[in-house]
Order: sequence, then C-alpha cells, then structure tokens
Amino acid sequence: MTDSTASTERVKQHRFLADRMLGRLARYLRLLGYDVSYPGPCADAGLVAMAQGEGRVLLTRDRGILERSGPAGGNPRVVLLRSQAAIEQVAQLASEGWLRSPGPPRCADCNQVLEEMAASEARHLVPPYTFAVHSHFMYCRGCNHVLWEGSHPERFRRLINAYLQDTRMPRPGPGEGSAPGRA
Ligand SMILES: [Zn+2]
Repeated sequence: MTDSTASTERVKQHRFLADRMLGRLARYLRLLGYDVSYPGPCADAGLVAMAQGEGRVLLTRDRGILERSGPAGGNPRVVLLRSQAAIEQVAQLASEGWLRSPGPPRCADCNQVLEEMAASEARHLVPPYTFAVHSHFMYCRGCNHVLWEGSHPERFRRLINAYLQDTRMPRPGPGEGSAPGRA
C-alpha cells in the first residue's frame, strides 16, 4: 500500500477533552488508544474554549455545557453522555461512531503515547516476579514509569470488547497487549 493510499483510507481519529466528572472515562479512552485531555476543575467557558482551540470533541454529562457551546454541530462538537458508568459511556461513544482509528495505547495517567521497552531494559526497573511472568513491557516518558500487561487490565479489555461487540462496533485499540500494569 502506498502512502497516498494509506492516507486516503485512514479515518481521522477524534481527539477528546473530558470534563472533570469524567476522569474514569478519560483513563479508559487513553488505554484504548485515544488522545484525551483531562484538565480537571475548569469553568465551563474555559472548557468550551479549550476544546475549540485544540480541535477536541468535548465530552460531558452537563447539559449546560452543551447549551453554552452553541448550535448543534457547531464548534466545538460536544457529546452529552447519558450514563454515569464509564463502561457505558465508552459503549455510547462507540455506537455513535466516535471511536474509530485508535492509535497506540496511551498512559492512563498522563495521556502520553506508551513506547515499547525491550525486556533487557525493563529487567532492572520492575520487580523480579513481574519480570519473570511478563514478556511485554512499555514505558511512559511522561510519568517515567515502566508498564506491563497485568491481570486487571486484561479484565478491563475483555469487558470493553464485550460491550462493544454488543453494539456491533469494531473492536477498539490495537488489541496487542495494550492494557498495562505499572511500576
Ligand atoms: Zn504517564
């Protein structure tokens, strides 16, 4: 496939901004490979301006923010999430077509793209037992942490995929050992 073919076939990945009520959703989406800004406490007008300035889709459960953002389909785009549960919020985004073309997994804490780390480099940075039972390690340059596949992220990924299969959407994420534990 040539570069030009790849660029025309590639579906643009949405970038998101999550309001302060949606910290868990922000973490889920980052692990699934989406760029999510999570500024924390912030005035509504500031959130709208930030989303507009950075070209991000604003995620919120606050109808007031939706009304402040202007007419439907305006800029920035705003998605009003119906559920309080992060897993159902992911399912809503998937069913509405927002979760396409995931990138590589990102750090749940800081949104940095995770980098592959050779086992030889990880050996001295993780507990001995962890090194003994895992072969796939990643590194977050933002947090300066080594991450590895662990039992909890495995459950997380199965749960997410089960939900998304229910909504008949493609599986999110690169699918390869993307959900990390951490050191
Ligand atoms: Zn990080």
